[in-house]
Amino acid sequence: MANGKRIAVIGAGISGLSTAYWLVKSGFDVSVFERASRVGGTIITERQNGFLIDLGPNSALETSNVLRDLIRELGIEGDKVYGNAISNNRYIVKGGQLCALPMSPIKFLKSGLFSTRAKLRLLREPFIKPTNQRDLSLADFVRRRLGDEFLDYAINPFVAGVYAGDPESLSAPAAFPKLYALEQKHGSLIKGAIKGARERKKRGEVSKDRARLFSFKSGMDAFTNALAERLGDRVFLNAEVKQIREEGLFSVELDIDGKAEQRQFEAVVLSVPTDAMSSILKDLAPEEARRISEINYPPVAVVFMAFREEDIARELDGFGFLIPKVENREILGSIWSSSIFPDRAPEGFAAFTTFVGGARQPQNAELDDERLGEIVYNDLNDLVGLRGQPIFVRIKRWPRAIPQYTMGYLEYQAMFDNLENEFHGLFFAGNFRRGIGIGDSVLCAHETVQKITERMGDGTRDTQP
Ligand SMILES: Cc1cc2nc3c(=O)[nH]c(=O)nc-3n(C[C@H](O)[C@H](O)[C@H](O)COP(=O)(O)OP(=O)(O)OC[C@H]3O[C@@H](n4cnc5c(N)ncnc54)[C@H](O)[C@@H]3O)c2cc1C
Repeated sequence: MANGKRIAVIGAGISGLSTAYWLVKSGFDVSVFERASRVGGTIITERQNGFLIDLGPNSALETSNVLRDLIRELGIEGDKVYGNAISNNRYIVKGGQLCALPMSPIKFLKSGLFSTRAKLRLLREPFIKPTNQRDLSLADFVRRRLGDEFLDYAINPFVAGVYAGDPESLSAPAAFPKLYALEQKHGSLIKGAIKGARERKKRGEVSKDRARLFSFKSGMDAFTNALAERLGDRVFLNAEVKQIREEGLFSVELDIDGKAEQRQFEAVVLSVPTDAMSSILKDLAPEEARRISEINYPPVAVVFMAFREEDIARELDGFGFLIPKVENREILGSIWSSSIFPDRAPEGFAAFTTFVGGARQPQNAELDDERLGEIVYNDLNDLVGLRGQPIFVRIKRWPRAIPQYTMGYLEYQAMFDNLENEFHGLFFAGNFRRGIGIGDSVLCAHETVQKITERMGDGTRDTQP
């Protein structure tokens, strides 16, 4: 039985859907409003010519019990697949060649990816004093602690792969809070990594570099589809929220299937990207709405290219490769989609999912299809060797892909906290808040629901969505 408190969740990406799921479980009367005609937001899976194509995230990291338990509760654990052993091999481009990313201290010492000088430089790390700056760029943070080469050949490509971002502009404490905290708490990343591993074990958490990579046999949208199925007719598609006002209750102004409507709720959770959030909040909190609109989401183009296996010279024995900026290439990196999970490509075929643009080269994401196909083909050909043309290409453009937690972002994070304190019943859950990954978004949703139940009371717990 619902406890009668009505909550609107705006946005049906992974954040909004998981928030709504737990709210229903806690007994709230939930309505989810989604502008698009489908759920999932950034998570989109397609099938074409026997290939499974994830046009947004291709995988997620199993970083918490919260995420694991949610998947089990949804009954889709049997559909979950972990990346196979080969996907632990990751490559970084150096001097135009694919160089294996060393995954252990011994491999690091033997690796050709870093010079002896760079390796020796790491020995100094435990003796470098922690910064007293509250905010600094990830590049400055890494340069000071680990040196230039580590920044160029480890952090720069990694950040391009995760954030489509640039370490010179990302904020170390906002974008990588755990890394920054290691230094603050233990005085050193190396010492902190050793001690942190023990503490995480106690909390049942796994660090991102150790967390298992997973997807679903039927692609990433199995997750969001399962959540939407549980929520049933509580999810309204083609339902764009235009604005919210506070008139005792929250009045939500909507456009549902082209018809303007207003509905009243005791609480609202905003799980939309910050440009949409800015216009939704323009009446309620005009100054914050203006500031939120400044958050940068650079564009990314995802280019899926399918080939006959015989037309690829190199064995695709890994997750894929990432490209450091100093290598001056046109693409950010490429995932070997069909090597990581089973049944992504028909027998005898293989596929690359290549990322273009981001904060490094936003203009590249806006090239026309023909030119985009050309730059991807040329870089793949140089790096893995191609003997023939792709059998098909699927391009998806994300004009605003991933929020960049740039310098100053801690203030936006504080602003979301302040708005929640100022307006009783207003909440935020999304990839703009405590991390951009799927695991982070699910944890953020979980925390938001805990906050809601603390502030608004607990519903009847035995309600099943
Ligand atoms: C190309 C790409 C690759 C990625 N790869 C990975 C990866 O490999 N692993 C990983 O963990 N993460 C990855 N991410 C990040 C991750 O996918 C996202 O951060 C996460 O899915 C965001 O979920 P969300 O629910 O917060 O936001 P979204 O998915 O953006 O959902 C927001 C929803 O709000 C809706 N909406 C917007 N405005 C309104 C409105 N006015 N009214 C109603 N609804 C509205 C939108 O239509 C959308 O459905 C990737 C992202 C991109 C773009």
